[in-house]
Amino acid sequence: MTQILDQLAAIVGQAAVITDAQDAAPYATDWRKRYFGKPLAVVKPASTGEVAAVMRLCAQTRTAVVPQGGNTGLCGGATPDATGAQIVLNLSRMNRVRAVDAVNNTITAEAGCVLANLQQAAAEADRLFPLSLAAEGSCEIGGNLSTNAGGTAVLRYGNARDLVLGLEVVLPDGQVWDGLRGLRKDNTGYDLKQLFVGAEGTLGVITAAVLKLYPRPRARATALVALESPARALQLLSHIQGACGDRLTGFELMSAFCLALVAKHYPATRLPFAAAHPQYVLLELSDTASAANLDAALQEALAEASESGLVLDAVVAASETQAAALWALRENIPEAQVHEGKQVKHDISVPISRIAEYIALTDAELQRAFPGVRLVTFGHLGDGNLHYNIAPPAGGDEEAFMARAGDVSRVVHDSAVRFSGSISAEHGLGQYKRGEILRYKSALEMELMRRIKAALDPQGIMNPGKVL
Ligand code: FAD
Ligand code: ZN
Repeated sequence: MTQILDQLAAIVGQAAVITDAQDAAPYATDWRKRYFGKPLAVVKPASTGEVAAVMRLCAQTRTAVVPQGGNTGLCGGATPDATGAQIVLNLSRMNRVRAVDAVNNTITAEAGCVLANLQQAAAEADRLFPLSLAAEGSCEIGGNLSTNAGGTAVLRYGNARDLVLGLEVVLPDGQVWDGLRGLRKDNTGYDLKQLFVGAEGTLGVITAAVLKLYPRPRARATALVALESPARALQLLSHIQGACGDRLTGFELMSAFCLALVAKHYPATRLPFAAAHPQYVLLELSDTASAANLDAALQEALAEASESGLVLDAVVAASETQAAALWALRENIPEAQVHEGKQVKHDISVPISRIAEYIALTDAELQRAFPGVRLVTFGHLGDGNLHYNIAPPAGGDEEAFMARAGDVSRVVHDSAVRFSGSISAEHGLGQYKRGEILRYKSALEMELMRRIKAALDPQGIMNPGKVL
């Protein structure tokens, strides 16, 4: 053991090999504090060459490697097991932006670049890097690509998979694949980079990426709309898309109960409507043209929706501050849930057209099976993706309810799959849903995934115990 630690230190430097249990602790547990591992060491390389040398050593010694970025993942994918035999390979020191090509609309960045810094570097070149999620101040682009992260702008720009043009990857045997191409068109065989996107660190270590940039919007318009039901929200989505086209950037659904939780746990919250309504949509438009045009388009579309009885009430933010306050309603839901207590969380997707029906049927099924449960339903309606979370009945026995979490998830997941949906829209499988997926993916699909894994990582040293 000490021999491999010495060899690791010889590659990355003594200071970049953490073995003290206390110092390693933040790297050995996940963001939700649900998984606690015990790494042999946390290793923090500073260059692709160092990552390659570490992987060569690990291949020789058959040491398992758990890649890690900002450690904000929600399915335990970046947490080592408790054997004390796996190393955490944390990429945070590899945080340089290598190049910005404004004409090609690309940025080349290292895996450890924090998402917010990448957005900032794009803005400095008068461009937009559109990936955006609440963890953007700490998650890293290597982690974003490895989880194929979604977030709040997928409706317009797609998820991480749609934003990548090229990758540099260190393979499990230490070879470096330089696929850092910035091409919009390249039909020369299999699209290898897409294998590593969403692979959750099980096929190789992403060390750098070429990413797409977009024109930087000059104007944003944000509105909160009150509606009768998710079905109405879907009608509103079609209406706004028809009226405003791809200027619609985000379309987030929140139930009344979600906003009540935010108001309860963030007492400074001001809800913009006098009365409570059953459902709310937070929507955002953005455009490279003037703010006046955009506001007018939104006001007109909302006025039409109001006249036809589609919306019950609506407010349009009159300033950046008001827009931020509206977004805070959405972004504070996850923390408000934490304050409220334990819940069984889900990250499902179904075809957008079926989402209202999904909510209605699954709500009813849950109430039959677990009377009085509180449904914390919110998420990216425009992508057909809901964070469909279930809290125990008010005043109920939290621990007894959590002991039945598996049964609750079974109802939610079976229902999603009946609607031709997925049990993980954006957070991935990691260790959390690794067993659960076997129930839903065909044996053939699982077998194809295992064959790909075996071809790229025949020794099985890349993030074992995750995904497969
Ligand atoms: P980590 O957690 O460090 O790692 C995630 C996975 O990727 C692990 O399996 C790890 O082994 C692997 N990995 C990391 N880096 C590399 C690499 N360089 N090479 C190979 N494998 C690697 N996710 C969404 O999709 N949408 C959201 O809206 C969203 N909102 C969130 C809000 C909050 C408050 C929090 C805490 C999380 C949220 N997430 C969301 C989840 C999380 O932020 C994303 O999954 C993010 O992409 C993870 O990035 P990371 O750098 O923290 O990765
Ligand atoms: Zn989300």
